[in-house]
Amino acid sequence: MERRDFIKSSLVAGAGLAVASSPLASMTSCAPCCKMDKGAQLNISFQKYTTPQQTLAEKFDYMESLGVFGYEPHGGDLLSQFNEIEQNLRGRNIKVSAICAGFSGFILSEEPEKKQLFDTTMREIIDAAGQIHSTGVIMVPAFNGQVPCRPHNQQTRDFLVEELKNLGEYALQRGTTVILEPLNRKECFFLRQVADAAAICRDVNSDGVKCMGDFWHMQEETSDFAAFISAEKYLQHVHIASRGTRNTPSEDGDLDNYVDGFRGLKAIGYKNYVSFECGTKGDKLQVIPAALELIRKQWEEA
Ligand code: MG
Repeated sequence: MERRDFIKSSLVAGAGLAVASSPLASMTSCAPCCKMDKGAQLNISFQKYTTPQQTLAEKFDYMESLGVFGYEPHGGDLLSQFNEIEQNLRGRNIKVSAICAGFSGFILSEEPEKKQLFDTTMREIIDAAGQIHSTGVIMVPAFNGQVPCRPHNQQTRDFLVEELKNLGEYALQRGTTVILEPLNRKECFFLRQVADAAAICRDVNSDGVKCMGDFWHMQEETSDFAAFISAEKYLQHVHIASRGTRNTPSEDGDLDNYVDGFRGLKAIGYKNYVSFECGTKGDKLQVIPAALELIRKQWEEA
């Protein structure tokens, strides 16, 4: 064999090996046929207003009848109704999933009082979240409308990483986490993509700082699959809604396709919650069972 031919064939073989040994390449190249299911589980969670019932007991009865065992309270409700939530959970299979925000102020505020308000109220919610064994407290670094905000530059990112380190260690000591939520550009230009949130978690380097993906905001992503793969061990929570109008999954017809994202969740062995954060166009008692059927079918397909 001529040297030139040897080099050529080695390169081809090498490239083949590299592709074959790369999990990402093998999953994306034959995604529809490959099930990289590392023990992933579809654990569904509802927020307070997902269900139409009035009392928590009625809501929890309904959720259990549907096989839904995660509950995501708002942070404000967690503080004001802690005993009620705790009592209603007793003797049930339902557990608290993440806590949806609820703090005042914001972490990137340029006003010391607003930053202090965030530090105080966020820690109160973290304390309660730990006591009720929640997976974490969801936070957004700064909504577009929150001003004055630190500028979107390297110094601010460094500041955020340092602040999150303190907050993450605090959460960890209380048995919970803080979960960064990327939104879309219309709501939070500072943090828009799951991979960026995951990179912040990596740089913070605390087991108390995690991130999440929200299928609604993931309109920012070029690939649901790649977004979840990029977050891997940092992915602590997922929000789901219909993909055209942010209503209940299935209400936007063919737009409501989560298979690519679910494939990503399966590939990383995701076992945390997929939690409904959405409105409803129709009758909740009909739409919710339809949504669950769609999601469970697509999870199987993924
Ligand atoms: Mg969300």
